Amino acid sequence: MTKLHKIAAIPADGVGTEVVEATKQVLSALQERHPTFELEWHDFDWGTAYYEQHGRMMPEEGLDELRTMDAILFGAVGWPTVPDHITLWGLRLAVCQGLDQWANVRPVTFHPGVPSPIVDAHERELDWVVVRENSEGEYSGFGGRNFAGREGAGEVAVQSAVFTEAGCERIMRFAFDLARTRDRRKVSCVTKSNAQQYGMVLWDDVFARVAADYPDVETEKVLVDAMAAKFVLRPEDLSVVVASNLHADILSDLGSAMAGSLGLASSANLNPERRSPSMFEPVHGSAPDIAGQGVANPVGTFLSAALMLDHLGHPDEAGRLREAVDKALAADVRTRDIGGGATTRDVVEAVTAAL
Ligand code: ATP
Ligand code: MG
Repeated sequence: MTKLHKIAAIPADGVGTEVVEATKQVLSALQERHPTFELEWHDFDWGTAYYEQHGRMMPEEGLDELRTMDAILFGAVGWPTVPDHITLWGLRLAVCQGLDQWANVRPVTFHPGVPSPIVDAHERELDWVVVRENSEGEYSGFGGRNFAGREGAGEVAVQSAVFTEAGCERIMRFAFDLARTRDRRKVSCVTKSNAQQYGMVLWDDVFARVAADYPDVETEKVLVDAMAAKFVLRPEDLSVVVASNLHADILSDLGSAMAGSLGLASSANLNPERRSPSMFEPVHGSAPDIAGQGVANPVGTFLSAALMLDHLGHPDEAGRLREAVDKALAADVRTRDIGGGATTRDVVEAVTAAL
């Protein structure tokens, strides 16, 4: 039986438009070959060009429109003509927070044929997942400028991190539940409680409390600086890494660079209770330096679409898409960022053929 899903496409800016278009093509080929699902696309032209015309990144009723969808495929947001904090908060963070997508899942996956700058070829079987708290922490938006400071300090700005017990608890439980679905049942908790004595200590306390409910899952607590080193030195020790909004943002970029390129990295912004649609997007940004040239790596978005198919209840089809991607990469169909000369179009064709 064919299952119909309503999908919002928000390509937004720069290479976002190229990789989302490429992904729609590959998904339509997958759907043709495996007609177990059908995607009904709803396209939204929100982003920086929309902002320049309307003074906002998306219409006021935009979130309500998205609420009627089953999932969202997102490209990338930001362009040099408008400050990044305006475009980011005006669209991507507005959707994440407005639709309560509080869990951000970012797999770190190595691929055959793609050289890693650090990890030896024989170890490239490894993969781990960064689980990012996506609703509060350092990106709470809490603070302000022009605070009174000590003499000679000039302008003082305060940017506060907000950690709630409920927010910490739900992301910890999510990480432990995810660990139970993996070969290695382990959760590494990233912290900085030695230097940040309020929020990060609450974060640690909640981790210890939740861990007690999962005696079958191995745990460790690692300072964020030590975790950066561990990614590089002992990645085979990782399975699920749970971290705050800022820490996970940085660590997942490190992981994707280790796996070969930011252009390969996928992510899911989930509302695990399924009260609102979840959003799937590549980890990379709008890449103005290569936008419009047809050379963007679409793999990060393909793999985000695979996460979307998992979420929509089509794990077999998601697996087929992942296999086709690895076949294309192993056959040396690689874009410039991973040492090849292929165009976005070439990758679409190779993956489609491998399906
Ligand atoms: P953001 O702030 O939105 O994360 P950014 O400025 O950090 O964006 P990106 O736009 O992701 O960075 O670009 C970083 C570098 O990675 C650039 O050199 C860009 O060309 C490259 N890059 C990003 N995405 C891709 C892609 N899909 N394919 C090839 N190269 C990419
Ligand atoms: Mg960035």
